[in-house]
Amino acid sequence: MITADTIVPDSTIPQTFNRYAYVENNPVNHRDSNGHCQDRRQCEAWISLGATPSQKSKPRITSREDWGARQPGNNTLCGVQRVGCMEVPDNEGFFDPVSNPAGYAPYSQLHEDETLSSILFEVVIHHGGNSMNPITSPSSIQYEHQTKRGWHDIGYHFMVDGNGQIYEGRDIGVRGSHVSGGNTGRIGVLLMGDFEPGAALSVGSISIDLIDLNGDHEPSFAQVGSTVQLLTWLDSVYGIDSVVGHNDINHTECPGTSCLIYIPYFDNIVNQ
Ligand SMILES: [Zn+2]
Repeated sequence: MITADTIVPDSTIPQTFNRYAYVENNPVNHRDSNGHCQDRRQCEAWISLGATPSQKSKPRITSREDWGARQPGNNTLCGVQRVGCMEVPDNEGFFDPVSNPAGYAPYSQLHEDETLSSILFEVVIHHGGNSMNPITSPSSIQYEHQTKRGWHDIGYHFMVDGNGQIYEGRDIGVRGSHVSGGNTGRIGVLLMGDFEPGAALSVGSISIDLIDLNGDHEPSFAQVGSTVQLLTWLDSVYGIDSVVGHNDINHTECPGTSCLIYIPYFDNIVNQ
């Protein structure tokens, strides 16, 4: 009897569409020790890791201009007038050394005599979770952060979508807003999608299991591969000490169970 592989194919790898063929019809270059693609994914990721660290060049990153980002501070509805805020901003708004020491500020203002390389020490990986539906875009995330939450700008420094496209978020020279109580020196990287299997959002009596971009609650291989490239480049430019999940810093399920398995592997990249 023929049994289909148990993992939904990756839309970015056409060879996976035949679910009866393991390891993309290429058993010579790929290993699939237990016949299940969850192992293949990790396998593939490790293979890409072996190929990538020598490539320190900057990966292709879609600029703010190209995805139509609004300027920082363009959040007058909530941020300035405090009207319609989803939550009261407690770590954003304009920086003030006395009244809002954790606010939006370029590092050049916070640490005049220090270089970015000495300030930036860690990358924090996030997922979108249930707050993001499958059509989430950088623009909708910025809208959420600026207009609904009243933050000065989008909170993450980079976003990586399910197709592996990397987007520029907040200027790397500006302190982010992506962890609670510890944003200084931490680069926020969002893997777009919901990587907590089974996590559901309740609307009234209806429980909706919102899906990630690929519909399988797992980071895609393209997404992991682009994240590897991004981390390799960030480490080569800024000398990153470590890569952690959001849950290493705050009490949260972010970046989701099926993303967590990649964190040690991401951390290895910056410690080679
Ligand atoms: Zn997070």
